[in-house]
Amino acid sequence: MIKAKKSLGQNFLIDKNILENITNTTKIENKVVLEIGPGTGNLTSYILKKNPKKMIVIEKDINLATQLKNKFKNQLKVINDDVLKIDETNLFKDKVTVFGNLPYNISTEILSKWIINLKDNFWFEYLVLMFQKEVADRIIAEFNTSNYGRLSIICNWKLNIKKICDIKPEAFYPKPKINSSLLFFYPKKNFIKIKNPNNLEKITRIFFNQRRKMLKKPFNQLFNGDKSIIEKFKIDLRLRPQNINFDTYYKLACEYENLRS
Ligand code: SAM
Repeated sequence: MIKAKKSLGQNFLIDKNILENITNTTKIENKVVLEIGPGTGNLTSYILKKNPKKMIVIEKDINLATQLKNKFKNQLKVINDDVLKIDETNLFKDKVTVFGNLPYNISTEILSKWIINLKDNFWFEYLVLMFQKEVADRIIAEFNTSNYGRLSIICNWKLNIKKICDIKPEAFYPKPKINSSLLFFYPKKNFIKIKNPNNLEKITRIFFNQRRKMLKKPFNQLFNGDKSIIEKFKIDLRLRPQNINFDTYYKLACEYENLRS
């Protein structure tokens, strides 16, 4: 067995039923598929069995990237690079379906990067991604719950999200200490337009900086206590950040950028 590198979040999927289930989440035949972190190519093999039109993988580990090239030859294109440094928006002509048993230490960074960098034209059709269960719970959290926060707000802005299943540690080698969850994402047709998505990042950071405290302080910090905004959105400043729904955050990001323009 290959020696897994903890620093690169290497936990390889070995459960054949789960590998098969992941590739049944969405149609692969004739689609262009991108896999993030293919590792030893376990999921890659199952994807290739479903006859994609083209397959590209991005793997940071040079040894694994070399092994993948030798193993799969011209069945796929291997990019030996850090996914965080790649601009996927210009990589493909067709819209792609993305699969990834993501390295857990950077999974939210990868997803946030994709959402924040999205142009009006989505470069992907579907995302089928595995996360640490605790992170997946935050991604799919509804407002008024303790898991609701920056990650849920940023992810739900442009994407519909569905949980496919939870996966036990026994499905991986080496066995991680945590449970995992598989999530399915697809673009929303309608979403509130925010000119600079970094403003959504900024306001959610400031609001959720002290998630148990009332909204008054972060609101005043961002909007200088502007009462017209409080009235427009009917915000009770005694509430906590988790009590404000998704759309209100997106609209507040627009207000914030209008103030600055
Ligand atoms: N897909 C394989 C599987 O399911 O068996 C491996 C998944 S493992 C959780 C994560 C993979 O992502 C590893 O192969 C690791 O080397 C790779 N990886 C880690 N950081 C990366 C990065 N920044 N860019 C691209 N690949 C990365």
